[in-house]
Amino acid sequence: MDEYDVVVVGAGGAGLRAAIEARERGARVAVICKSLFGKAHTVMAEGGIAASMGNANGSDDWQVHFRDTMRGGKFLNHPRMAELHAKEAPDRVWELETWGALFDRTADGRISQRNFGGHEYPRLAHVGDRTGLELIRTLQQKVVALQQADHRATGRKDPAGYESGLRIFQEYTVTRILKEGDRVSGVFGYVRESGEFFAIAAPAVVLATGGIGKSFKVTSNSWEYTGDGHALALLAGARLLNMEFVQFHPTGMVWPPSVKGILVTESVRGDGGVLRNSDGRRFMFDYVPDVFRPQYAETEEEADGWYADPAANRRPPELLPRDEVARAINSEVKAGRGTPHGGVYLDVSSRLPAEEIIRRLPSMHHQFRELADVDITKEPMEVGPTCHYVMGGVEVDPDTAASPAVPGLFAAGEVAGGMHGANRLGGNSLSDLLVFGRRAGLHAAAYATGLTERPAVAEEQLAAARAEALAPFGDGGEHPYALHQELQQTMNDLVGIIRRAGEVKQALERLAELRDRAARVGVEGHRQFNPGWHLALDLRNMLLVSECVARAALLRRESRGGHTREDWPAMDRDWRRSNLVCGLSGESVEVVRQPLPALRPDLLALFDRTELAKYFTPEELTDEHA
Ligand code: FAD
Repeated sequence: MDEYDVVVVGAGGAGLRAAIEARERGARVAVICKSLFGKAHTVMAEGGIAASMGNANGSDDWQVHFRDTMRGGKFLNHPRMAELHAKEAPDRVWELETWGALFDRTADGRISQRNFGGHEYPRLAHVGDRTGLELIRTLQQKVVALQQADHRATGRKDPAGYESGLRIFQEYTVTRILKEGDRVSGVFGYVRESGEFFAIAAPAVVLATGGIGKSFKVTSNSWEYTGDGHALALLAGARLLNMEFVQFHPTGMVWPPSVKGILVTESVRGDGGVLRNSDGRRFMFDYVPDVFRPQYAETEEEADGWYADPAANRRPPELLPRDEVARAINSEVKAGRGTPHGGVYLDVSSRLPAEEIIRRLPSMHHQFRELADVDITKEPMEVGPTCHYVMGGVEVDPDTAASPAVPGLFAAGEVAGGMHGANRLGGNSLSDLLVFGRRAGLHAAAYATGLTERPAVAEEQLAAARAEALAPFGDGGEHPYALHQELQQTMNDLVGIIRRAGEVKQALERLAELRDRAARVGVEGHRQFNPGWHLALDLRNMLLVSECVARAALLRRESRGGHTREDWPAMDRDWRRSNLVCGLSGESVEVVRQPLPALRPDLLALFDRTELAKYFTPEELTDEHA
């Protein structure tokens, strides 16, 4: 069996940044990814990476970024994570440049920064609307540079020389984290092409597997997002927090049906695009919540003036945080003011010259022309909400990214919880990946290399993992694709953007039924590249994670960020003090309320007291300001 110090599961932004750090700290590192190397979801990121470099507006700094992030997350963010993220993001962007990334520039040669919803200043460093691609390309290049250094150091000419410090296992899927006692001892999984099983012994595992969107029918997420890391963590004894908070991005494509859900980047609105209903009304002015009113324009004139002169005008309401815009679109469509295909119009054609649209939004221009036969330089797009991101994830220590429950387990990126609270701001994921990916790699390496005695891989665990993976080849009659479709429909219809207790209970009943049926899932053929088998194995993860989402959604009796309860429409200050934490007891998902860490007085002092009164209870403000 191969042995490493650190296994990183996932080769997106978080996984690669973790692997680079761990390798640079002297650990031997394996990176495992279920797609081809370079194909991770991070590649799809379009708009940019949020960091308060202050290039476009000198007033920006980490404190303003921290404030925006906490406001966006409705103060449910882990404050220490939000602080570290805001402080360290600029360094991570600079570091990418030193590794070869080339961001778009301002006229005077600095890294250009664009506007995005919920960010007070233009803050997103970007490469057109293909920022994720540049990020992954740069991290891969750094991986290769490290491998070349290892090759030189070993003096070996064969692949083993290059891979002596850092090896990538592509198209491998992890299905179990192995443990000895409480501690992590390695991972088990299968090779997608051959169907063979593999196991790697390692005392530290970093989960960087991304999100859960494939449990929902309409989603911007790719096939990889089946919640594997979330489920692997749960099954290993770790806990998930904030799983009720799922972000529905306001603007996904709605037509044609084959591309429904594909993302329309927020940069379209950041660069001047406006939302209109079928009456031609710019409806977002009708949906500015009281808490945001002071910062948002009241007239179209003021909103339009903001693009040229942000000091003299307030921001357009199209740039409210995503949860607000998604709910507004949902309401307009429900009120019968939607487009023919059940969305609203997003228009940039009447706002910018055609050449400028093509320069700033090349992927969007291409995407609509190729997929919907729409020229966005001449006509509006039709858009509607799509499941995009999960705020909930593995509970981690903010400084080390370590799971407090399972020694040797770390998590970073979308699979980790806490950073974004009830709602993530656009651009804050790419920065999160780099800040916490680096921290996870650093601490995983320190943990692994500091151990005097390593946990062993037990043969019984391997045998159990093998049996579990082979179970779908039994004589079960349930079809994995049918089960997946039913799951997606259930989550979309009953635990979607607007939730009601009765419907969520119904979803839980269906999920229990689906879990029963999934135990009898059957696949045909053999183990060589067999997508039906792969899906059958992914179903365990999607069902577990969906149950966490539904159970937490039922318990949280308020509306906040990415969780909207029609039967509890208001935000409740008492609920802000609590996270909902999911764990496994036997085979059952259990959810408990856990107090949120207090906001340090110096961080609290960054906010205006009147604003805090909307989120904090009077006792909290008295105690904490005292
Ligand atoms: P990923 O990049 O998804 O990587 C996950 C990795 O885990 C993959 O390598 C996968 O193969 C591997 N994996 C998963 N399960 C297993 C398993 N069982 N075994 C082995 N490997 C496994 N955020 C921003 O900040 N700015 C943006 O502009 C932006 N634009 C976006 C546009 C789109 C269309 C989408 C969908 C998201 C966007 N986001 C953006 C969000 C952001 O891209 C993601 O949150 C982020 O890329 C997640 O990165 P990650 O490293 O956590 O995971």
